[in-house]
Amino acid sequence: MKPKHVPAAAGAPDPYFPNSGDHRYRVHRYELALDYRPGPNRLAGSARLSAVADAALAEFALDLAEFRIGRVLVDGRATRYTHRGNKLRIRPAKALAPGAAFTVEVHYTGNPRPVRSPWGGLGWEELTEGALVASQPVGAPSWFPCNDRPSDKATYQLAVTTPSPFTVVASGRLLTRTTRASSTTWVYEQSAPTPTYLVTVSIGHYRAVPLAVRPAIPQTGYVPERLAVAFARDFARQPEMAAYFGEVFGPYPFGEYAVVVADEELDVPVEAQGVATFGTNHLGGGWERERLIAHELAHQWFGNSVTIADWRHIWLNEGFAKYAEWLWSEHAGGPGAAVHAAAAHRLLAGLPQDLRLGDPSRKLMFDDRLYQRGGLVVHALRRTLGEDAFFAMLRDWTGANRHGVVATADLRAHAARYTTAPLGPLFEAWLERPELPPLPD
Ligand SMILES: [Zn+2]
Repeated sequence: MKPKHVPAAAGAPDPYFPNSGDHRYRVHRYELALDYRPGPNRLAGSARLSAVADAALAEFALDLAEFRIGRVLVDGRATRYTHRGNKLRIRPAKALAPGAAFTVEVHYTGNPRPVRSPWGGLGWEELTEGALVASQPVGAPSWFPCNDRPSDKATYQLAVTTPSPFTVVASGRLLTRTTRASSTTWVYEQSAPTPTYLVTVSIGHYRAVPLAVRPAIPQTGYVPERLAVAFARDFARQPEMAAYFGEVFGPYPFGEYAVVVADEELDVPVEAQGVATFGTNHLGGGWERERLIAHELAHQWFGNSVTIADWRHIWLNEGFAKYAEWLWSEHAGGPGAAVHAAAAHRLLAGLPQDLRLGDPSRKLMFDDRLYQRGGLVVHALRRTLGEDAFFAMLRDWTGANRHGVVATADLRAHAARYTTAPLGPLFEAWLERPELPPLPD
């Protein structure tokens, strides 16, 4: 495996979330053991993190919401800590040397609650029957202690114990399921590097619905029993979609893809590593729902495998996922990408033009205009590069950065290799200036 390029931004605090994460160390593995009781919404957890110090550390911080902390150990020894404002500050008995490998173990209990944000609650959410996790961008500390920055990707083992009637779906492959007395422990392994915001668990009364008899990638729905038939109908084309995206984006980056339909209405579906979570309101068919199926699936390449260094670059996730919707429409015999692009352009032309795509501000990072304009940049690139060069550029981008971390400058440098025309003016107009440029012919 070739060494991954790490953008400079990975070594600095996130400009949009300066209080999240600690850039002075990296975690390469999380082992989480969680016991969850849905009735009282009670979580008892232990987390073991394996990390490497990038600097001399007399103290370091983990992000963790309001839980009662039992014990904190560094390299197996009980350690002093403080816990305030969702920051667990840990002072090891002996300072860690630059380059030192170390482990941290945290035992904690409490009633998990979403982290408050301008976009509503993030992270662990209690449902009428069970729970789900949707952390983007900074909700992970609602359920486990972590270095909460997207560039710090790690592998995960998740062992979740809960009353036996419930099904547990989590990121990764199910290794074991063991029932003792009235509880069952589900152990999942996520061996692909995963940012904290994409780690997920869903607990509910679900029936497993396999989507195809023998698809290249196992694709399973976890849905309330009464919705199994509707799900099988509405998601019937997803295996075909995955096969098409495999052609245009390169091989699917993970070992499986699970779709959870939570027994609630959700504002928007959300992507996680190898998993997407939809609400009951996303069933029913039609283009507005089918495009969401394509969008969430495309995030497995854009965002989940190829991950942004910090949140300024979010258009790299959302622009490509939006464009994937248009590509699917074109491939599936619906309106072509050019038709969708023209409609998006008309829409944006009638809206305020105060968004800079390459650094949209925290306030506008989930603005619908970012999604639309992100799709338009990709379409402008396709027009400028031409079909063959564009699709080669796309496949090579996900290939060269598979399981890696990228920034906008990386895409600019990458795309420049596929044309002799200067792309600077295109990127500057679309990414750096707020006015809406015309679409290239
Ligand atoms: Zn998205």
